[in-house]
Amino acid sequence: MILAYHRINPWYKDALTVDPEMFEKHIKYLLEKGFKPVSLYQYVEELNQRNKNFCISFDDGFADNFLFAFPIIKKYKLRPIIFLTAHFIGTEKLPKNYVDRKKDRYLRWKEVHEMLHSNIDFGSHTLTHPDLTTLDRKDAWNEILESKKFIQKNIGRKIDFFCYPYGKQNEKIREMVKNAGYRGAVITNLKGKIDLYSLPRIGIYGHNSFLIFKLKLWRAKVFGK
Ligand SMILES: [Zn+2]
Repeated sequence: MILAYHRINPWYKDALTVDPEMFEKHIKYLLEKGFKPVSLYQYVEELNQRNKNFCISFDDGFADNFLFAFPIIKKYKLRPIIFLTAHFIGTEKLPKNYVDRKKDRYLRWKEVHEMLHSNIDFGSHTLTHPDLTTLDRKDAWNEILESKKFIQKNIGRKIDFFCYPYGKQNEKIREMVKNAGYRGAVITNLKGKIDLYSLPRIGIYGHNSFLIFKLKLWRAKVFGK
């Protein structure tokens, strides 16, 4: 199973934010229950083991991933993937509904590099986080391909995985992601069938109690998504 997180910090109690202590509790539980921590690369290679393997993913590229999730990731020697909104990384831009320049900024490239050297993978979450299904073909292609190139240029490593903003995609978009050279793409709360460009994820949100977290894992284990 692939778990989808956004923000990890002790500051907010909102849907996108999971408290660091709760995040560590999730990891401990998964390991205690015998789930095997894998990278997204290993996850796709062992897709038939997807109910036993787990991969942690983070969307958007918030700086708090570096400040609060990264120490926990290192402590448990995990290899998660962070999907970067390419043109927001290293800028002063703040996400919608957040206003604090220190707390709410996106990652800096040097933080990305430091995590890269500690075994963290990166993927693309487009250039500017649009709903791809509303764009014309040329703009959607640009978001999909140029974000890959841009991140590759900045980190000096191949970008192989993609994450659809808002989970919004269709057959045309999936085809473009494939043609751009990605090996796979993830979707939170997938309704259709599973394939490499529709890899299901479990969305973990700030308002989810630990019991809900356990139920989500159980559901993913039983239904495979
Ligand atoms: Zn996003």
